[in-house]
Amino acid sequence: MPLPKDSSLRVRFAPSPTGHLHLGGARTALFNFLLARHFGGTLVLRIEDTDRERSTQESIAAILDGLSWLGIDWNEGPFYQTQRLDRYRQLALDLLDKGLAYRCDCSAESLESRRDEAIKKGLPPRYDGRCRDRTIDPATPHVLRFRNPEGEVIVFDDLIRGQLSFDSAVLDDLIILRTDGMPTYNFAVVVDDVDMKITHVIRGDDHINNTPRQIPIFRALGAPLPDFAHLPMIYGPDRTRLSKRHGATSVMAYRDMGFLPQALVNYLVRLGWSHKDQEIFSREELIQYFDLDHVGSSPSVFNPEKLLWLNGHYLKNSSGKDLVPLVKEQLGPLTDPLPQASDPDHWTRVAEELKGRSKTLVELAQFARPFLDKSRAIDPEARKKILTPANIPVLEHLTLTLRSLSDWTGENLRNVFSQASEALHLKLGEIAQPVRVAITGKTVSPGIFDVLLLAGREATLARMDEALRLSREPLSDV
Ligand code: GLU
Repeated sequence: MPLPKDSSLRVRFAPSPTGHLHLGGARTALFNFLLARHFGGTLVLRIEDTDRERSTQESIAAILDGLSWLGIDWNEGPFYQTQRLDRYRQLALDLLDKGLAYRCDCSAESLESRRDEAIKKGLPPRYDGRCRDRTIDPATPHVLRFRNPEGEVIVFDDLIRGQLSFDSAVLDDLIILRTDGMPTYNFAVVVDDVDMKITHVIRGDDHINNTPRQIPIFRALGAPLPDFAHLPMIYGPDRTRLSKRHGATSVMAYRDMGFLPQALVNYLVRLGWSHKDQEIFSREELIQYFDLDHVGSSPSVFNPEKLLWLNGHYLKNSSGKDLVPLVKEQLGPLTDPLPQASDPDHWTRVAEELKGRSKTLVELAQFARPFLDKSRAIDPEARKKILTPANIPVLEHLTLTLRSLSDWTGENLRNVFSQASEALHLKLGEIAQPVRVAITGKTVSPGIFDVLLLAGREATLARMDEALRLSREPLSDV
């Protein structure tokens, strides 16, 4: 259904702060954000913290951090439900006055035994309405229950799922205010959606069964119904709901694993939404194209390889300069910096040289370390295979000629290598490999001359000496 392009659209992201911002939550936030931006509307951030036992300040901070890392900003809020308790109480009492809610003093034990009985009789285990028409002294401990419509079919047009209908007979007279005066989840959500004038409720489809419970409350409050859109689930590769079993699910864990926020945003948006065959989207394009019409109704499967591929793409297309602070963050303080590491341009050159070979910032930082720090670890496999007696002549020859080189330039290095190749009757690749392992500790790296230039004369010679020493050691010591 096309939505009007105006500023009256109001959506919200309403996380419960009981953990990190996970991928599903981030996708919900992103879709709301993009829709608000696309239509010039308003995104409200609402923290649903009425579950006092499970809500924590750390989770609130983690959610806000996750959103800001992804570049998802909001126009209003954050509003906290715990700061609106009076409002929920007031509206619950209004419903009581109007006869749309009632007091219930059934004890937990009595509820339980009646429920058990219902189950035995093969009836649905729901509240049996015992207190609907009783008069209960307000001084006795009680809850307030919502008087659900009877014999009604609740129908709504989900913007993604199409028309959905639920028989009101399956709905409980749900509690809206607990004995301690705290509102329940479904009630607080509706009061907030009404007060915050939400026009479109876009959330995960784990909430789809709440919607028929919430619709009668909207009506009882005399409020217009928002449109609803329930986003399809995200599955793990085994087609069960994505969870920790499938690996990291928290957004910030992806930051720690070296992902760029642009890559994760691009990945998340494609979990359910498409725009023709396009896979890579700039932020501007997402805002320009995003709509609910192209959100599919079937679950999407989380594919870590695709995320990795996207991350590689975004790394490659970032400027070396922009990557430097991120590489620095990954590396932490250097143990024994090379002299050139004090030059900001050197860092940029290193990032520029390596960004196309790395899928994550963690990998990029690993590749970068030998060009920034005096210490570099040698991959044991590379040592075993390449730093062998057979390569001693190559290393000896090049150590000597490189040591006598006065000007450490690309051209001079190239000459040294081609002369060595001739003298030793070996191909350039054959003489480059032991040097590569000596300098970087790895068998893959940028071109050998770039490696030598980035490492610099001093580190190169020191590492060649060390490689020679290692090559002379018998293999059994390795
Ligand atoms: N607080 C709910 C959650 O975190 C979302 C409620 C809603 O979007 O209506 O799952």
